[in-house]
Amino acid sequence: MSKTYKLDILPPEREFFSGQVEALIITAPDGELAILADHAPIVAPLVVGSFKMKIDGEWREAFNSEGFLEVSKLGTVLLAQACEWPEDIDIRRAEQSKRRSEEKLRQQRSINEYKGSKIALARAMARLRVTKQKYNLD
Ligand code: ATP
Repeated sequence: MSKTYKLDILPPEREFFSGQVEALIITAPDGELAILADHAPIVAPLVVGSFKMKIDGEWREAFNSEGFLEVSKLGTVLLAQACEWPEDIDIRRAEQSKRRSEEKLRQQRSINEYKGSKIALARAMARLRVTKQKYNLD
């Protein structure tokens, strides 16, 4: 088995995950980044999407909203506005959120509202993608 390290995943006001992992793969703006044990210290922003972690030889994937990853001598911490396991994602809510954001984008509102709707649409689509991979829909 590969060497493990401690990972903490902390959305606001709760602990999503805390434990030993063999690997973590996040999506940063310039592509995927794999973190193994003894990785050099870094801070990297997270793209809204998903991350994967390997525990006891098994990969698990979860949704992440806006956030960042910090690897330091103190440990590895993933901070995100929201994290969800596929089985905890409310698919109907994500579909409604997707429709709402698409409608707002069609309405050509202010640039700030446009940006907000774009990122809300990205969250909804990422949630749907993570649940579809888990349950092999489509
Ligand atoms: P919505 O428009 O449906 O609120 P959102 O993308 O604006 O979606 P977030 O701001 O990312 O929602 O999340 C707010 C809280 O609601 C977080 O705790 C998040 O985990 C939870 N959440 C949002 N959407 C879902 C979903 N489809 N299934 C489960 N939890 C969700």
